[in-house]
Amino acid sequence: MKKNNFIGVNMNKKVIYISSLLHDLGKFLERSKQYVNNYIKNKYSDIRYSHPRYSKFFVEQLSKKIDWLSIEEWENISKIVGYHHQPNDFDTKIIQLADWLASAEREEQELEEFNYINDKLESIFSNMSDYNEQYEYDISVLNFDNMMPMFEFNCEINRYIDILSKFLEDIGKVRDEEEVLFILEKYCSYIPAQTRQYRSDISLYDHSKLTAAIAICLFNENKNGFIDNAKIDKIIQELQKMMEFKKFNKDQDNSDFKENLLTYLEDKLLDEHFILIKGDISGIQKFIFNVPSKKAAKSLKGRSIYIMLLTQLIAQYIIDQLNLTKSNILYCGGGNFYILSHKSAENKLKEIEKRIMQLLFKHHEEKLSCNIGYVSMKIGDFLLSEKIWKESSNEVNRKKLTKFNYILKEDFNKLFLPTDISKSIQTCDICKMEIKEKSTEKESDSLEIVLCDMCNSFISLADESKNAKSIIISKKTNSEDNKNTYKSIFNELGYDIKFSNDSHSSSNLINVYKINDFDSNKWILGSFYLPNKTFDDLADKNKIAYLKLDVDNLGTIFGKVKNPSLSRISTLSRQLNLFFEYYLIKLVEKENLQEDLYIVFSGGDDVLVIGRLKKLFDFSLKLREKFKIFTAENPNLTFSAALGVFDVDFPVINAIYEMEHLLKKSKSIIYYDEKDTIKIPRKNKITIFNQPFSWKELEYIKELYDKLYNFIDQNKENKRSILRKILLASEKYNPLIDGPKGNEINNQKIWKMRYYLRNIKDKKNLKQKEEIIDIYEKMWLKNYYFSDEKPIKNHQILNVAAKILDLEIRKK
Ligand SMILES: [Zn+2]
Repeated sequence: MKKNNFIGVNMNKKVIYISSLLHDLGKFLERSKQYVNNYIKNKYSDIRYSHPRYSKFFVEQLSKKIDWLSIEEWENISKIVGYHHQPNDFDTKIIQLADWLASAEREEQELEEFNYINDKLESIFSNMSDYNEQYEYDISVLNFDNMMPMFEFNCEINRYIDILSKFLEDIGKVRDEEEVLFILEKYCSYIPAQTRQYRSDISLYDHSKLTAAIAICLFNENKNGFIDNAKIDKIIQELQKMMEFKKFNKDQDNSDFKENLLTYLEDKLLDEHFILIKGDISGIQKFIFNVPSKKAAKSLKGRSIYIMLLTQLIAQYIIDQLNLTKSNILYCGGGNFYILSHKSAENKLKEIEKRIMQLLFKHHEEKLSCNIGYVSMKIGDFLLSEKIWKESSNEVNRKKLTKFNYILKEDFNKLFLPTDISKSIQTCDICKMEIKEKSTEKESDSLEIVLCDMCNSFISLADESKNAKSIIISKKTNSEDNKNTYKSIFNELGYDIKFSNDSHSSSNLINVYKINDFDSNKWILGSFYLPNKTFDDLADKNKIAYLKLDVDNLGTIFGKVKNPSLSRISTLSRQLNLFFEYYLIKLVEKENLQEDLYIVFSGGDDVLVIGRLKKLFDFSLKLREKFKIFTAENPNLTFSAALGVFDVDFPVINAIYEMEHLLKKSKSIIYYDEKDTIKIPRKNKITIFNQPFSWKELEYIKELYDKLYNFIDQNKENKRSILRKILLASEKYNPLIDGPKGNEINNQKIWKMRYYLRNIKDKKNLKQKEEIIDIYEKMWLKNYYFSDEKPIKNHQILNVAAKILDLEIRKK
């Protein structure tokens, strides 16, 4: 692209950033109805719309409290937020354009608002092409208790009042621009950015954040000489025409709207000023799980925390290097990140990619790498972004194939020349890298395994973060010691991290990130906690269980977003990640399972937890139920899971491969009544003891388990033998269903089983035995004769319930 020659506009990055974050905050104040409207109207009579008047009023009040911006800077911010709907200078135009692009899903021009204070934020999951139900959030702060949308939630009280005063207090105390972003996340995550006329499924936080990200890109494009006043005017004009086109289409009730828009955009809004960067850490699975069973608990945890921090710090490194802000990280979770950047960053990005590649290669050789891909974004792509989102993934996948290109050219020797084999070399028992100096004895002596400094440092990482309340992340340029540890990798990126167990003393530092705590200035989410138990302690008589799950049909879900603007796509990703990276971890805490469940990782869209089978069984049911509510009961949003039981000293990596196989089973089995229709989501199952079940069937298993448990409990003296017989009976008389379609109950077999169980020698508990058979039989009868739905298709429910119980009583 040709660099334009124009008179440089003297803009201040901080001013652009804060203005774009606060441009719509007036809506918050206005809706609270705590201010005299006429006063504000008269005071800012030259401002045409209502909310910018309030935004300006808000900024003017705030400027009296915050002293890390100069009077001149505050004046500029106040001007920009006040006139962002009627701009006449370049920096205000930047915010207007950013605002429009961030809200590209809006269907009409904004009108003066009046009756809107009771409008709630709709769940992004309830506004999809084949699902449209009104699930809404209460106006409230971001925390565990407020994360569930409610169906046709109605609240006539003005809920803005409840959170306004605390918000004003907190925002008045922010110490840097990053804290502004965090405070907005806390208070504006459940406030709709839009009310009336629009689908309000984008929060004021998500809208402000994306507006800031876009504005910062435009700021950089200007600084690098690629966008000027004339160009901004041209884009704004084109966008205005496009909005008229959208409105016209809407009035015609045109069902091919998306198609038409696509055609419309073919030769319009083609300017490329943005790139969407995707980063993806690859090799994670092998890297985390290829550890010996001894000390596995800590090794796994340390490695998974390292991956989590590495992903975040690489994203941080990129935004720091490209002169972006935290708002430009659209998503970060599960070893992935998406960053919105300016187009003129391309060359710099290539250098950054190479640096990261070399850094990871130096420390992990080919075992771990970060693939970075990017796609150019046209202005029009903000309106239909799911394509761009997908293309950036394709770009990353393409990179994976050529990932050692950089290395091959420059570090050829490192890759292919064997180390000097003439002298005997010692290698690390985990990563097999050569150990140059013998590592600290005390870490590894008692275990009879030898670890390199790096692998040892992952174990210390698990120890350090174990009871940590916060992480302190600071900038650092050179490493203090030359030991090869996880810290030295972060140091080489320019960061230093420390964990702190103290919840108070460190909180006055500006770079403290509280772990999973929204009641703070800044936070970091993720699973850092480690139970005070080894795998041996967690096991039932030498048996330990794994729960692995991930979200089904993710690609299809993104395809179902209506008017898939960049706002909607990133909101959807953020919400899904929030469930796994925060909600799940808090749920474990609230259910008091912290010492029983070992969360190896949880983030993005997948989870791995290790623990006792029964605890994991109950937890998976609970999590499924919560996920359903979290995603507005949208039938397209499901996850599949697998529960596997292994000997405690079975190699973790082999267990993981087996778990993957079981998860595949959950996702591939299709019940006969799922074949006819594409509407019922397939997958959505859980495999346990090698048997796939629907989640409904899992509830039946739970019911049977409880009955069996009570029965066994009352027959203490010979419970093992009774259970054996039940196990045998449930196996022997399977299948209980016959018929050409496998859907007719075999009464004879039910009777035989009843007879068999009766013959269990101990006659005195006949009544309870009958009860169990009764329940089982009723489940079947109800299932096959009285229900059209036929919730039970896998007859192994009794057998699996007995097997879980068998493991449970074995431990005592
Ligand atoms: Zn090692």
